[in-house]
Amino acid sequence: MLNYPKKCKILPMRFLGDGVLHGKTKAVVSEDDELRAFARLMIDTMYARDGVGLAAPQVGVSLRMIVLHVDPPTDEDGKLLRPLSPGETELCPKMPIAVLNPKIVSFSEVTETKDEGCLSVPGIYAPVTRPRDVVVEGKLLDGPEFRFECTGLLARAFQHEIDHLDGIVFVQKVKDPFFEQALPGFKKIIKKSGAKNYQIKRLV
Ligand SMILES: [Zn+2]
Repeated sequence: MLNYPKKCKILPMRFLGDGVLHGKTKAVVSEDDELRAFARLMIDTMYARDGVGLAAPQVGVSLRMIVLHVDPPTDEDGKLLRPLSPGETELCPKMPIAVLNPKIVSFSEVTETKDEGCLSVPGIYAPVTRPRDVVVEGKLLDGPEFRFECTGLLARAFQHEIDHLDGIVFVQKVKDPFFEQALPGFKKIIKKSGAKNYQIKRLV
């Protein structure tokens, strides 16, 4: 049984400091109607809050499932800005997607620094340096297992959401001086989450 409010149209968010965001998650072992209904609610919640991704712990469920909606990079006329990676070619036309047990199996040495935000850290954007390209394995809900090389926003979104499954929130990867600048905002959110003794464990 998945523990979430079944009668909501969108799910309540958990915020930085909430224990469920900073703990371990369990692998998905079966695809049943309950999981499908939960995935649909996660997608509705992601859209309602203008996110490009959402991980199950962000709505209080310690499960290795994420949802994403990432579009390919295009200019104003809808023309592709660069050749797509295999992951973008295969997955972008299927968006939104729910991915079970996603895992990154290799990271590029080339990195890229971009601003990130998170529905569990509302209103705060800060730069995070991540590998530019990753190879991601997983299984689409009601779809096949896959292994794709991804780049661009898709690679970043996978890394950000899979971090959530490992109890990591992007703020832990923000370097100074940006971390120091954002800290008062982070502290307000931690207070809102109801966490008493949470301290951000910085990873950079
Ligand atoms: Zn997030």
